[in-house]
Amino acid sequence: MTPEIAARLRDASGLVFDMDGTIALGDAASGGHKPLPHAIALLELLERKGIPFVVFTNGSAKSPATYAASLRKAGFPVPDERMLTPSASAARWYVREGIGKVRVLGNDGTAAPLRDAGIEVVGPSEPATGVEAVFTGWHRDFVFADLEAACESLWSGAHFTTASHVPFFAAEGGRAIGASYAINVMLSALTGKRPRILGKPGRAAIDTALATMGLPRSAVKNLVVVGDDPALEMRLANSVGALAIGVSTGMMKEVDCLPPRDRPAALLSSLEPLLEAMSA
Ligand SMILES: [Mg+2]
Repeated sequence: MTPEIAARLRDASGLVFDMDGTIALGDAASGGHKPLPHAIALLELLERKGIPFVVFTNGSAKSPATYAASLRKAGFPVPDERMLTPSASAARWYVREGIGKVRVLGNDGTAAPLRDAGIEVVGPSEPATGVEAVFTGWHRDFVFADLEAACESLWSGAHFTTASHVPFFAAEGGRAIGASYAINVMLSALTGKRPRILGKPGRAAIDTALATMGLPRSAVKNLVVVGDDPALEMRLANSVGALAIGVSTGMMKEVDCLPPRDRPAALLSSLEPLLEAMSA
């Protein structure tokens, strides 16, 4: 870590952490999370120092409150209101755009933040007219009728929106397939529409993270984004001028092959140097 990066860390207005592969790994045996080394100590330090942070996962299988409870069970100091998913930033975006009826290709956890925001949620293959957006998320129970219903909504003018659009994510024992990516590819091929990403690395994600931390948009230059996925956290950070800190405990193993927009300012083999820098 260079002195310049250490200085930017000391001046951080807030930190956005990815979850899987960055601070924790999904634990198949318990269905919960296993903390990665130094992650709990780092979040506890930020808490003590009063430096705002959020955990923003691109997972949409569960509601933010459910993820937060799982992280707390693993020892993390993460209250519900500091946990974000693409559904949280999607709900915020729909409200801003005046969108009130959304077909959700996902489960109850995907839909919960939308319902909480007063948005009418239509089921994956539920017959409906006047659908203003299709939202794809973690939807392992996908069937052909869902494809037909989503295409009908999109052909009728609905916005095509998604939680996430990366083929893989880090899981215990290796990589797992991103459900929304696979569904998006089908919908794009059939409708000619491209999905607007409301999770990372979309602009809605960073706007939601800043608002959640109580920070103005101008604080984005002093924001630090920590993650394991070049196409998610690193791209998000670089697109808004935030500091991109990569960790090699998940998807990212080396950076030389990456395009500049997906490259971290520093790639760390663990969170320990970040803990040290933030302690200074
Ligand atoms: Mg990750």
